[in-house]
Amino acid sequence: MALIASNVAGDLRQLPKAHLHLHLSAALRPGSLGELFEDAPRPQLEAHDGTFPAFLRQMAVVTNLLRSVDDYARLIHKMAEDAAAEGVTWLEPSTGLRAKRIGLDNEEAMLEVLVDSARDAERETGVGIGFIITPNRTGPTEDAIRLARLAARYAGRGVVSFGLADDEARGSADRFAEAFGIAREAGLIRAPHAGEHAGPESVRAALNALGAQRIQHGVRSIEDPDLVRRLVDEQICLDICPTSNVQLAVVPDLAHHPLPALLAAGVSASLNADCPAVFGCSLLDEYQLAQRIFGLSYVQMARIAAASIRHSGAPEGIRSSALTAIDVWSNAAPR
Ligand SMILES: [Zn+2]
Repeated sequence: MALIASNVAGDLRQLPKAHLHLHLSAALRPGSLGELFEDAPRPQLEAHDGTFPAFLRQMAVVTNLLRSVDDYARLIHKMAEDAAAEGVTWLEPSTGLRAKRIGLDNEEAMLEVLVDSARDAERETGVGIGFIITPNRTGPTEDAIRLARLAARYAGRGVVSFGLADDEARGSADRFAEAFGIAREAGLIRAPHAGEHAGPESVRAALNALGAQRIQHGVRSIEDPDLVRRLVDEQICLDICPTSNVQLAVVPDLAHHPLPALLAAGVSASLNADCPAVFGCSLLDEYQLAQRIFGLSYVQMARIAAASIRHSGAPEGIRSSALTAIDVWSNAAPR
C-alpha cells in the first residue's frame, strides 16, 4: 500500500484486494507490455471474434514476447509494481511452466526462476505473490500429474494453488482427479477453470472430481439454482472476470453479466482481469466497472475484496492486515 498517496473515501484504488485469476504470460496490460518490450515489434492481435481458438492465438502472440528467463523476471517485477499501484496486496498468477519455450530443461528450473523473481518483486513492492500451477485440460493426464507433484513439493515455498485451464468444452475434469488429489494432499488450494465455455455440469464436475475450492470463472453456475445453493453452502469462491466474459462471448454484454445475481444469492466472488494483455483491462478497471455498470454499493465492493483475500493463498500476516484495512475502507466509504 506504500505507493498509494491519496486518501479519498470510497477510492477503489485504496481498497486492499487480491488478484486470484491472472494468467502470468498475459498479466501486463498492453501499455506496460510495451514499456517492457520496447525493442520488440508490437504484438499484432487479431480482432476478437468471441471464439476460444481465436483467443488462444492471441495468447500465443503475447506469450511469444517472453523469450528468456530474464523476460519472466522483468514481467513479474512489472506485474507487482502495477498491482501495488492499484491497491493489490496479494497476487496469485497462474502458469503452466512451459520451460522449453525459454530454453530451460525442465519445469522445476522454470519454477525456481519464477519463485526467485517473485521474492525479489515482493521485497521491492510489498505485494505478496504465490503461484497457481495450471496444466491444460486438453493435454495429457500424465503432464498434469507431473505438474501436481512439482507443485506439491513447492507448497508453502512459492506455490499456493493448483488449477486447470484451456478449452473446457474439449477436456473433461474427471481424468484430472488424480492430479488434484496430489494437490489436496499437499494442502494446495484447488482452483480449476469451469463454468465459462461449458455450463453447470462442468462446475459440478470440478467440485465432485477435483474438490474445487475456488472456480476460475464459474459464471454459468447461474443457470442452475441448485448449483448456486451448493456454491453458497460449500463456501466456494468464483474468481470472476467480467471483461473477459464479454470479449469471449460468455455473456452478450455487461448488462447481462450474472455477477449481481450471484452476489444476491450469497455466492462469494472475487473480481479479476484474467489476461490483461489480451483484454486490455486491469484489476482496478474491473472493480470500477462493477461499481459503475452493476451499481454495486461500497459495502458490496468491500465484500468482494474481502472474499478475494479470504479465499487466497496469502499468508496470515497479509490476510489479517488486508482484512482490517478493508473494514476501515468500508467504514469510511460514502453511504
Ligand atoms: Zn483464466
